[in-house]
Amino acid sequence: MTTVLLSSAGCLAHDTPPAHPECPDRLRAVLRALEAEPFQYLVRAEATPASLEALKRVHSRDLVDAILGPWAQRARAEVFFSIDADTVMSAGTAEAAQLAAGAVIDAVDLVASAKARNAFCAVRPPGHHAEPERAMGFCFFNNVAVGALHARAVHGLHRVAVLDFDVHHGNGTQEIARSDPDFFYGSTHQWPLYPGSGSPEERGCAGNIINVPLAPGSDGTALRQAFAERIFPALESFAPEIVLLSAGFDGHWADPLADLRFTAKDFAWLTQQTCSLADTVCGGRVVSTLEGGYDLAALAQSAAAHVEALMGWP
Ligand SMILES: [Zn+2]
Repeated sequence: MTTVLLSSAGCLAHDTPPAHPECPDRLRAVLRALEAEPFQYLVRAEATPASLEALKRVHSRDLVDAILGPWAQRARAEVFFSIDADTVMSAGTAEAAQLAAGAVIDAVDLVASAKARNAFCAVRPPGHHAEPERAMGFCFFNNVAVGALHARAVHGLHRVAVLDFDVHHGNGTQEIARSDPDFFYGSTHQWPLYPGSGSPEERGCAGNIINVPLAPGSDGTALRQAFAERIFPALESFAPEIVLLSAGFDGHWADPLADLRFTAKDFAWLTQQTCSLADTVCGGRVVSTLEGGYDLAALAQSAAAHVEALMGWP
C-alpha cells in the first residue's frame, strides 16, 4: 500500500502581500524537499477543487458564496482584498482555497477506498482557523473538516478524528467538533498564543475534545508526553474510523511565529505513533494536510520527516 502526495500548482497562485509569512515559497519549499531520493516511491496526484456541496457541509452558504463570488471579484480588481489584518485574498486565492479543501477530499477518497494506505496534502492556504461562518488566521475553508465530513457523508466513516499539532489552536476545527459527539478533536498548541482558544476546559459536547496547551519554550518531550498520556488514549477510546492530521510545523524551534522547540524528529515520532495507533483502530487510514510552518528550511525538513514516517520509514 502506498502513500499519496496530493498538491496543485493552483495552491501557489494564492498571493499574499510582501513579508506576509504565509507565502507561496512555503509550498515550493515543501514540494522541493519531497523531490529528494527517499520520496521516489510517493504516488503523486493532482488535487481537484472541492465542490460547493462539500464546502457547505462545514461552512455557511454566506461564507462560501462570498469567498468564491464577491470577495474573489474584489481581489481580482484590487490586487489584494483583506478580510482581516492577517487574512488576505489575491486573484488566485478562491481557486487555491477550493483546491486545498479538494485535496483533502481526494485524499479521503483514496484512503477510504483502500487505493492508498495514507496521504499527505501539500496545500495552502491552510485551514484550521476557518470557522463555519468566518475566514480568519490565513485560513478560508477548513480543509481538514471538509475532508472529515466528506468521509462521513460519502464513505460512511461516521466517527472521524482530527489531531492537530500546529503551534496554534485550531479554533475553527474545534468549533465544528464542539457539538458533534462523533467528531474527535485533539490539539497541542502553545498557550497563550493566537487565536486564544484551546484551554483544557473546552471538552466538547461528549468529552470529544482534548486540548493540551503547552507553555512557551516547551520542547519535544512535552509534545510526546501530551500525545502519549492525553491525546492518544482518548483517541483510542473514541475509536475513530479515520484519522486526519492538521500538520502544522510552526512548533519547530526555528519558526519565527511562536516559541516552542520541536525538531523534525519530534514530528516524525508523532507521525509514526499516529500511524501505529491508526493501524490498530481504523485500518491505518490517515490523511494529513499541511497547516502552518513559516521558517522555510525548518518547514521543508519537518514536512519531509513527516512524509517519510507516513511512508513507514524509521
Ligand atoms: Zn500555526
